Amino acid sequence: MQLIAATGNKNKLRELREIFPEHEILSAREAGFSEEVEETGMTFRENALLKAHTVCKATGRPTLADDSGLCVDALHGAPGVYSARYSGGGDAENRKLLLKNLEGVKDRRAHFSCCIALVFPDGKELVAEGQTEGTILFEERGTGGFGYDSLFLSDDLGKSFAEASEEEKNAVSHRGRAINKLREML
Ligand code: IMP
Repeated sequence: MQLIAATGNKNKLRELREIFPEHEILSAREAGFSEEVEETGMTFRENALLKAHTVCKATGRPTLADDSGLCVDALHGAPGVYSARYSGGGDAENRKLLLKNLEGVKDRRAHFSCCIALVFPDGKELVAEGQTEGTILFEERGTGGFGYDSLFLSDDLGKSFAEASEEEKNAVSHRGRAINKLREML
């Protein structure tokens, strides 16, 4: 199937293509949609459905949307749905702010969460969620990945997501798990 991915995030797009190789995934821009969809939802699910429906309506094609983020127990689930906008700057500033907000904090349990929505032009929706557990490191480790990867020590891998290969991360990641569930639904 040809699917439109309702994301402008190149890293997410790359991972979606790696995890879902049986489908051809075009970016929203490649399908002629270049607007930013404002994420007004309070949950990953609301935002994923909002993005998928908006881009599906505009393009008339089946659309996949990912909404994801990092939830830190000691910060009562923050940055959560605000992960991309946490500091008001980019990924590096977000990581810096996270470390600052966890200064002196011993309980560093956290998880990544991902909701994937697939919406069809007839309005049909498929929604799948995935999570992956870990702890927040005291300093960055590894140079791969994106976002908070270099601060996330994965329980499954025993290393940070930025130290893992793409295959290793995709096998246990929140995004990998959500897509596996979606694949079963399809
Ligand atoms: P969204 O576009 O609102 O879903 O933003 C998700 C944000 O959560 C990203 O910008 C990253 O900061 C963070 N995030 C989501 N998934 C990952 C991941 O796999 N690794 C690292 N950071 C992630």
